[in-house]
Amino acid sequence: MVDGNTRLLETTSSKSVLESITKRQKKWEAEGYLRQSNAALSRAIVAKMRERKARTSLKITKAKDNPDRCRNTKLLAKEGAQGRQATEVLSTVDPKWAVPGASIGAMSQKLAYYAIRKKKKALTKPREVTTTNLALIIEGVKEAFEADITQADVWNSFRSKHISGLCSQFLWKTTHDLFMVGNRWRRKGMPEEYEDRAVCAVCQNTESMDHILFRCEAPGQAEVWGELKTLWALTGIPWREPNWGPALGAGCAVFKTEKGVRQTHTEALWTILWSEAVHLIWKLRCERVIRREGNPHDKQEVINAWRATIERRLTLDRRTAVLAKGKKDLKQGNVAAIWAPIIDGYKDLPEGWVGNSGVLVGIKRGQG
Ligand SMILES: [Zn+2]
Repeated sequence: MVDGNTRLLETTSSKSVLESITKRQKKWEAEGYLRQSNAALSRAIVAKMRERKARTSLKITKAKDNPDRCRNTKLLAKEGAQGRQATEVLSTVDPKWAVPGASIGAMSQKLAYYAIRKKKKALTKPREVTTTNLALIIEGVKEAFEADITQADVWNSFRSKHISGLCSQFLWKTTHDLFMVGNRWRRKGMPEEYEDRAVCAVCQNTESMDHILFRCEAPGQAEVWGELKTLWALTGIPWREPNWGPALGAGCAVFKTEKGVRQTHTEALWTILWSEAVHLIWKLRCERVIRREGNPHDKQEVINAWRATIERRLTLDRRTAVLAKGKKDLKQGNVAAIWAPIIDGYKDLPEGWVGNSGVLVGIKRGQG
C-alpha cells in the first residue's frame, strides 16, 4: 500500500472505470450512485483518493501497450473471482470522507422511482420454480457450450436482438412458469372438471413445459428438432441435443474458432433457429389442444409449419435490416452473413438481395 503522502499514478485499461472517478464522479455522487451496480466500490475509491494528501494521477492505457501487466491483472482478477471466500476490497469508507445518500437537487422523479424499485426488487425473493428453471438453463448452457453464465445473463439473453418479441415473451414466461400447464390445473381452488387438463392426452403423462418441448410423443417436438438438426448440419458445426440449456438459453450460445475467436454470426443463427423452434413447438401444442380439440397434427403438417416459420423469420430480418439506423441495429451485411449457411443457392443471389424484396429467397431443405 502506498502511503498518502506519495504521488501516485494509477493506470487502467477501462474507460468506464476512469470516468467513474473523474468526469462522471460529481454527477454520480450527487445522485447517490443510485444507478450504479458497483456503487460501493466507486464510493470507496473516491473516498480513498480524497483521503490522500499527495496528488493521484490517472492514466488510461491500452492492453496491447502493456501486455504483461495486463495479463497479470487479469490473472489476479480471475483468482479473486474463483476464490471461495469473498475478498474484502476497499469497501469500507472512513466516515470522514463518506458522502452518503443523494442530493435533493440531483433527484428526479424518474431516479427516485428507479431507486424504490431497486430496493423492492432486492427484498422480493424469486419463486422457487423460477430458480430451478434458471439452474436448468445455466447447467444446460455450460454443458452444451462450455460457457459459464449467470442468472442475469439468462434474463438479458431473452432481450437479444436475434430473438423476436413473441419468442422473447415465451422464454420469459416459461422461465417464470407462468403458463397454465400440468400441475397448475390441480392447484387448490381449481374446479375439479379441469383435472383432465393436467394430463397430456397423447402420452397420458402429467404435462409440463419440459414434456411439451422435449418429450411429448404427439407429432410436434420430435419433428421440429429433427428438421432443425438437418438444417444445422449445413453449418458444419456439431449439433447439441435439445434441452433447457441450448433451447431456452438460445441467446447464450457460444461458438469459437480454433483460435478462440467468437463466431458471432453462427451464435446469432443458433439464437434465431432455437428460439423460433421452442416457440413453434409450444404454438403447435396449443393449436392441437385448444383449436383442434386434441386432434394431433400429421408429421408433414409440422414440417411445413417449421419451414414456413423460418422463411417468415428470414423475411422479417431482411425488412428489419433495411430500416437499420443505429450502430447496434441489425444490418443487411449481418443478415447475409448469419443466414448464408442455410440459404438455398446463396452464391447465385444478386448483390443487395437482403434489401431487395423482389428477390425471392428460400431455405435449404437440409442435406437430403
Ligand atoms: Zn405428451
